[in-house]
Amino acid sequence: MVVPNRFKDQVAVVTGAGSGIGLGISRRIALEGGTVIMADIDRAALDAARDAIGEVPGQVRQTVADVSNGTETRDLMQSTVTRHGKLDIVINSAGIVGPSASNIAEYDLSSFRRVLDVNLVGSFIVSKHAIRAMQGTGYGRILLLASISGKEGNPGMAGYSTSKAGVIGLTKAIGKEYANTQITINALAPAMIATPLAQTLDPDKLSSLTDKIPMGRLGTIDEVAALACWIVSPEASFSTGAIFDLSGGRATY
Ligand code: NAD
Repeated sequence: MVVPNRFKDQVAVVTGAGSGIGLGISRRIALEGGTVIMADIDRAALDAARDAIGEVPGQVRQTVADVSNGTETRDLMQSTVTRHGKLDIVINSAGIVGPSASNIAEYDLSSFRRVLDVNLVGSFIVSKHAIRAMQGTGYGRILLLASISGKEGNPGMAGYSTSKAGVIGLTKAIGKEYANTQITINALAPAMIATPLAQTLDPDKLSSLTDKIPMGRLGTIDEVAALACWIVSPEASFSTGAIFDLSGGRATY
């Protein structure tokens, strides 16, 4: 349920905003009155995303940036502050799956490095420059995208599972570093959500991961956006370094 004006006068950067979860969260923030800078590595995806968002009360801008590139990501955060005067919210939804049906003996090293570079090093880079930009006002909400695979480990997905376990560790560490400020850092750990990313999985892997969900279905982008928007709202003031479950009953811790 959209909360009118919840993000009025707030400025958000969403990475991976050209598709799936990042697009859904961007739309929800803009529907609730926020200014959203949608960043993605894929220009064509951003153009299509603008059309998908349609008319909204908030302002929406698009910019191309690669989260695994420190300079581009620093410039994304700094230019947001220069243009809008502050940065309240950063959601890092950029991510890739990499191989999804390769045991480690067959898992290509360059793929492993690329998955870690985007998912884990990207989360480090985004968080670092987000916090620097937020220190101007002393207020901020950072949300990273982990995954249940980072808790449980999905066989055949060593790179993805390792990267998401790293995002969980990163969130817990830096959440504590800034716990005595007004900047919170949290992560979501979803099970399978119906997005274009799910379609990049090996079909047998997708069906085995869906079978593990006690609710017997994939999650929806709207369900992710609803929880994400509460976590990045001013109301969520006593949660930091937390990993939020979103798994239809799959997660047991
Ligand atoms: P998606 O593929 O629909 O969207 C990901 C977006 O990230 C794409 O637009 C892509 O162009 C962009 N991207 C990729 N590499 C980038 C880079 N280096 N810099 C900037 N942008 C980049 O994926 P999604 O399903 O929306 O997933 C979003 C996040 O949620 C990912 O981190 C993913 O691992 C995580 N997640 C997804 C699921 C799921 O089932 N869909 C479950 C758990 C976690």
